[in-house]
Amino acid sequence: MITKVACWEVECDVDKTSALYAEFEGHSCRCGYCRNFWAAMGSAFPQDFKLLASRLGIDVAKPTEVWQYNKEPSGLHYYGGLFHFAGKIVFDPRKPSTPGSPLKFERLVSGFELTLGEHESPLIPASFKGHQLVHLDFATHVPWILDEPDPG
Ligand SMILES: [Zn+2]
Repeated sequence: MITKVACWEVECDVDKTSALYAEFEGHSCRCGYCRNFWAAMGSAFPQDFKLLASRLGIDVAKPTEVWQYNKEPSGLHYYGGLFHFAGKIVFDPRKPSTPGSPLKFERLVSGFELTLGEHESPLIPASFKGHQLVHLDFATHVPWILDEPDPG
């Protein structure tokens, strides 16, 4: 199936991606930032992204990676993370980025950005390896909601 993801067109294998996520346990880090992300998951992913993810076969409860960049002056935490799905990019209107350069995000909705890539990565979960994959990097803003001090 060919579908549009922000400015890209991708060919995605929804059945394969769903099967990969069904077998995948999800990112297992239990540090404070990650536990806060799980606790605040409802506000981390806007409805438009949840719809997009389900169209691709991605289980939003199981990012392959999550990390916190920094705490913003607003008090929200700026997080990044990663999903993978089976497929390939068929149309990319942007110039290819050079390996190692910072990610260039496209805004999906206010406060939520993403970018796609197909590069090799050590962050691919073992159970996803051996499939043709697209990486979906996201960036979002999440409140601190854990019942423990905000580490800042
Ligand atoms: Zn963590």
